[in-house]
Amino acid sequence: MTPAAIISKKRDGGRLSKEEIIFFIDGFTQGKISDGQMAALSMAIFFQSMTDEETAYFTEAMLRSGATLQRTSSSLPRVGKHSTGGLGDKTSLVLAPLLACCDLLIPKLSGRGLGITGGTLDKLESIPGYRTNLSEVEISKQLDAIGCVITGATESIVPADRKLYELRDVTGTVPSIPLITSSIMSKKLAESLDALVLDVKYGSGAFMATREQAEKLAASLVGTGRNMGVATEAVLSDMNQPLGEMVGNACEVNEAMAVLRGEGPSEVADLVIELCSRLLLMTKSVASLGDAKKVLWGKLTGGFAYEKFLKMVAAQGGKLSDAGLETASPVTVTSLHSGRIIAIDGQKLGEAVIQLGGGRRFKGEKIDHSVGLKMHARIDDQVLEGETLLEVLAPADRANTVVPYLQTAFTIVS
Ligand code: URA
Repeated sequence: MTPAAIISKKRDGGRLSKEEIIFFIDGFTQGKISDGQMAALSMAIFFQSMTDEETAYFTEAMLRSGATLQRTSSSLPRVGKHSTGGLGDKTSLVLAPLLACCDLLIPKLSGRGLGITGGTLDKLESIPGYRTNLSEVEISKQLDAIGCVITGATESIVPADRKLYELRDVTGTVPSIPLITSSIMSKKLAESLDALVLDVKYGSGAFMATREQAEKLAASLVGTGRNMGVATEAVLSDMNQPLGEMVGNACEVNEAMAVLRGEGPSEVADLVIELCSRLLLMTKSVASLGDAKKVLWGKLTGGFAYEKFLKMVAAQGGKLSDAGLETASPVTVTSLHSGRIIAIDGQKLGEAVIQLGGGRRFKGEKIDHSVGLKMHARIDDQVLEGETLLEVLAPADRANTVVPYLQTAFTIVS
């Protein structure tokens, strides 16, 4: 077996065996297979794709490249959620404590912002003192004590993906469904789960622009999860406009806290309830989706999920009061003409947040958690010239640099 022979086989449309895939991923992780060879194989996969079986072997090889979280002595089902990322997506902040109120364990390893979409870790780090670098022992202890953890992946979790993702990013091989699938699923399966729900988003504020692309990715993710023995389902969700009103970091934590108190935008709560009910049903915690929804709404409106969130934050060192986090003062963005909003360009909204300092332009850049956007208008709204479309939460000098650009994010027809 040689790397060149494996690359050539895939280049010519062949099917790789489990042994060939393990040989390649192990060799790459250990530095015996070069970045050039891995990039060549990734490009061959990009063009020739992989079967479901090959994708499952690839995922397994990535998963085995490092450690997985240990299951604790608890007999409660362990569940996970992954979102492919979208503007204003604060669902994890609500979902984890809500599920923990329903006797499920949620060991959630989250990520940072990617492209225009924010990251759960960045949002949580808006909370002074909140630690996102828990050790595997700390994760287990907190799970047993509280039922939920949201932290970053430790260095030892799926090292192959860490290396491969960086390489794909600079070699034009990110948008390959089998490579995306193995990247996402290896990290999720490292949480040692019984059930997993995937929130696959499509639209202008998401990674997948169309519903068709999202359906393909969802089928691949679900097939791989099931192939690897984990009950897996996907929900497709529309990201043609931000989820909820807030886009940013501290402001999204505040909005999540409002949802946890039963006060936030209903579309955020509805999506969280939809995702959670699938997990309750997959783990046989309830008899039907209808029963699941009743239980979940009760935990939300009764304040139980909010209490659990505060406990999780405190356990991870965060200092948070009911008043929430401070955000920058608003600068208003108004409509240039009257009419109906037919589209909102999520790419532009996301880029504006990065420009304000709320996201990163390069790896490791420090972010300003206090900035963001507060949406006032949504698709299909009728607006008058001069009416508020959104507010920019940022110091006025910075906010004013993005106001004209943000006005172009709205397509308004009279
Ligand atoms: N997110 C991931 O974790 N991996 C991909 O390949 C794409 C999105």
